[in-house]
Amino acid sequence: MKKILAGNWKMNQTQSETRRFFSALAQAIPSSAKPSPALELRLFAPTLSLETALGCARELETSTRVKILIGAQNVHWESRGAFTGEVSGPMVQEIGIQSALVGHSERRQFFGETDQTVRRRMLSLLEQGFAVMVCIGENRSERESGRTLAVLETQMRALLEPLESPVTNAISQGRLSVAYEPVWAIGTGLTASPEQAQEAHTFIRQYFPRTPILYGGSVTPQNLPELLAKPNIDGALVGGASLKPESFQALWLSFLT
Ligand code: PEP
Repeated sequence: MKKILAGNWKMNQTQSETRRFFSALAQAIPSSAKPSPALELRLFAPTLSLETALGCARELETSTRVKILIGAQNVHWESRGAFTGEVSGPMVQEIGIQSALVGHSERRQFFGETDQTVRRRMLSLLEQGFAVMVCIGENRSERESGRTLAVLETQMRALLEPLESPVTNAISQGRLSVAYEPVWAIGTGLTASPEQAQEAHTFIRQYFPRTPILYGGSVTPQNLPELLAKPNIDGALVGGASLKPESFQALWLSFLT
């Protein structure tokens, strides 16, 4: 299974901060570093910094051969129309963006996303040819009341039932990935134990046998190695620790050791 390290910048990194991030990252990458074909690096940048990030990622690839895919954090399911404040697939595709995050818990929590709107975004983006990373995960009260697996099952069924061809095509073309992100662990400093994460990932694997499953929730360079050591954890989706070039690089090195 392909491994993925993805950073979610959320509403951080202006265009000038994005340029500074990439120039520091280029300095931090040793000239001996060999890009690994088994590891994919992605950064989900805020909409206004996408084009800058894309340009910087191209320069980085030319100078170091390290490839970072730049993705959007939120894209609407319609291609155009009366949806104030949203961006569409064709808009981001026109500047060269081919991948997107869907269903992040902050979208669900603060912007009213439901399992059904997450499904619509995922289907539409897959149909338009995007690589999509879709987030699922339980909140604190759901975990504490022992409903974690039931919640994950409901979220996954909403994605898979009825199963439509954009999903099966994307799975066979390697364009779909799933991020398990327990909501109580996001940005809180609390991480699921490797055993808790493994239990959830093993459950998710039954629904997504051929799809990379990433863990997300207060991942740091310190706790990533023990998470990656567990079966069925194919990578990490990282918020806070992806914002600094040194910690992004340290996360990246965890995959290579
Ligand atoms: C996230 O934004 O998906 C995330 C997991 O954030 P953090 O790593 O900061 O908890």
